[in-house]
Amino acid sequence: MMRQIAFGRPMIGEEERAAVLDVLSGPILVHGPRATQFEADFAAYIGAPHAISVSSCTAGMHLVYFALGLGAGDEVIVPAQTHVATAHAVELTGAKPVFVDAERETGNIDVTAIERAATARTKAIAVVHFLGMPVDMTPVVALARRRGWFVVEDCALALGTRLDGTHAGLFGDVGVFSFYPVKHITTAEGGMIITRDAKLAQALRLKKAFGVNRSHGERSVPGVYDVEALGFNYRMSEIHAALGITQLKKFDAFLARRKANYMSLAQSLVGVRGIRLLRSTGGRFESSYYCLSIVLEPSLVSRRLDLVDRLKADGIGTSVYYPHAVPHLAYYRGKYGFAADSFPVARSISDGSISLPVGPHLGEEDMHYIGDAVRRAMEGNVV
Ligand SMILES: *Cc1c(COP(=O)(O)O)cnc(C)c1O
Repeated sequence: MMRQIAFGRPMIGEEERAAVLDVLSGPILVHGPRATQFEADFAAYIGAPHAISVSSCTAGMHLVYFALGLGAGDEVIVPAQTHVATAHAVELTGAKPVFVDAERETGNIDVTAIERAATARTKAIAVVHFLGMPVDMTPVVALARRRGWFVVEDCALALGTRLDGTHAGLFGDVGVFSFYPVKHITTAEGGMIITRDAKLAQALRLKKAFGVNRSHGERSVPGVYDVEALGFNYRMSEIHAALGITQLKKFDAFLARRKANYMSLAQSLVGVRGIRLLRSTGGRFESSYYCLSIVLEPSLVSRRLDLVDRLKADGIGTSVYYPHAVPHLAYYRGKYGFAADSFPVARSISDGSISLPVGPHLGEEDMHYIGDAVRRAMEGNVV
């Protein structure tokens, strides 16, 4: 039988099933000890002073901008090459995302182009550790401090990402993580905000739960509370948190597997003509190895679908991160009128790359199989 390799698969085992059933056996589904424990465990794992669980990474980023009071007339610098959520979180507040093109080698925001995108209205900058490869935060944070900008790290694919030994999310004012099924760990849907700022952490806790001034445990008369602020319901339930606690315990093993897979696949692609690999690690930079993206030579870009189909016929699932630069998505193109030839580097990655799987559901043999399949396709003139 042919090997079947999924691009991503949540790693759910007996422990996760038992943890969820345990929640369902008791009376507390929200506002319970598990969300609190997951926050504490996550904070300890990362080395973050504060961690605030939320219902998704998108919710977390929206909550952050909302808590900052961003709105019409404000601007936030956002990388063009990212998940739409990075920009939507800004757009939802009424502020304007100002896009910056990607750097060719990594797909990360082109740090040298940030200052040109700044105006007197710039209030914040969002960086995304693209596919887990850390952005060089040193110049970003220095510029932001000089200009008085708030720094948001979109860490959706950056659990395990380190720069100079420090975990991603600790360089800016906040880091926001995702626990969507194919990310590094999953709670089905879920997210986490980390910050060093105690006051901000308190504001985020207030505003993620209607602006209610007392948590459940703090109410002297049950059911009695006041509302100090406008807020959402962006909480994480006990069921989701129970999954998170269990998944986090397994994360070091997941990450080791991802890294070994990545290294093995990168090795087996050495010398394959017509492609390049996005740089994903080295020196001060330690990736979380979300996937291995190959970028086709410009002359082969129009044949990308042929390669995807060839790999699919070999049982290999692939993906594209991300299928369009955000400014070229219909919503942003329509609203802001971006030209098709704008953000050329982000566009070249969106149009010309294929993301290959390296997740912990796979092993070394799978990597050889994928490497051989790509080599055969490239050398057999499929592409
Ligand atoms: C997946 C992803 C998100 C969205 O995360 P959700 O938890 O699904 O809201 C945001 N940013 C990036 C870079 C992502 O990859």
